[in-house]
Amino acid sequence: MRSEAVQQYLNRHGFEALSLKAVLFDMDGVLFDSMPTHAKAWYKTAVHFSLPLTEKEAYEHEGRTAKSTLDLLFQRKEQRNATPEEVKTIYDYKIQIYNSYNLETHPMPGAPALLQKVRQDGYQIILVTGSGQDTLTSRLQRFYPDIFHKDTMVTGKSVKQGKPSPEPYLLGLKVGQLHPWEAIVVENAPLGVRSAVSAGIFTIAVNTGPMDDSILLAEHPNMLLHSMEELNEKWEEIARSFC
Ligand code: MG
Repeated sequence: MRSEAVQQYLNRHGFEALSLKAVLFDMDGVLFDSMPTHAKAWYKTAVHFSLPLTEKEAYEHEGRTAKSTLDLLFQRKEQRNATPEEVKTIYDYKIQIYNSYNLETHPMPGAPALLQKVRQDGYQIILVTGSGQDTLTSRLQRFYPDIFHKDTMVTGKSVKQGKPSPEPYLLGLKVGQLHPWEAIVVENAPLGVRSAVSAGIFTIAVNTGPMDDSILLAEHPNMLLHSMEELNEKWEEIARSFC
């Protein structure tokens, strides 16, 4: 039966029905428990280059491309955008720090089981991430074998603006040949939620990090959950509520 959240979504956008064909997944903090390491690496990088960023803020800016994050920090410090050379040098340094932690990346608990279900239910699975790391495809293949394919992946390298612009999620719809009412998004970051909501897609925010719910709720997701395990447990009920 159609839930209140779905009815509100339809009313807001003037759509008649949500006819689910695909699920668009963000990556960091959704498929992988990688955000604490990313936040730490961004913080250390900022300290090294004397850029103003706290570790907590790194969570709040999650989803931005490297360029967008660095433009923001350079605007704060020197009232100008970062040059392409600065973006390359600083982002390379950040990736080096991230890799130096030498931590095994773990899938987010509940996410592999959920993706299996979504696939078995016959929905298309599309990745929409701000990350542009070269190791991304091999990491996905290792932990989510044969689920993601190059032609259904939107990465930081595929877009100009990145989240919070609707661009990455609009591109996600395009690669899947989907209308906004034929997909849902699973996101953990406030800027990712803003991007998905402004692309007109039903958005499930999953608060997998240390942020207050209020920061995510301020971006008007259609639903808020607190772990991928919870989403996995409630998947059947949620999928039924779209009809
Ligand atoms: Mg994320």
